[in-house]
Amino acid sequence: NTNEMEVIFDSRSANESFARVAVAAFLTQLNPTVEEVSDVKTAISEAVTNCIIHGYENEIKKIYIRCEINEHTFYVSVRDEGKGIEDVKQAMLPMYTTKPEADRSGMGFSFMEAFMDQVEVESIPGEGTEVKMKK
Ligand code: ATP
Ligand code: MG
Repeated sequence: NTNEMEVIFDSRSANESFARVAVAAFLTQLNPTVEEVSDVKTAISEAVTNCIIHGYENEIKKIYIRCEINEHTFYVSVRDEGKGIEDVKQAMLPMYTTKPEADRSGMGFSFMEAFMDQVEVESIPGEGTEVKMKK
């Protein structure tokens, strides 16, 4: 009794709002509160921005989002086939950023963890990164 959807789109910042809205539209069938929708949108924005800026370093490649609803739980995965992360534990620390010069505050993963119930990051250097979240 599950329901799934997938979207694939180019890593352009113009597509960040598309990704947020597409995921929020799918989430609607769970009758989420305004706050729940806003939490998921924030987490999606952070994950997609990371794919664009860090994974692909502003090259235009594909970003893959997969959502699944199972009973009353919402699962979402945001994936890129970019440069990957050497040390995931370190990358997830609050205020850790590899791009301080680009005005990054290193809070993306912390926001994802704050706004979602579970965040798991799988990454292979040179192959890509997948962020799996649950709400
Ligand atoms: P902010 O999100 O506050 O603008 P940030 O993106 O640097 O800053 P996080 O989102 O917490 O902070 O990510 C921490 C670090 O993890 C990044 O600086 C980057 O080195 C690495 N990282 C995150 N996502 C990816 C990704 N998709 N591919 C490669 N590296 C990533
Ligand atoms: Mg970030």
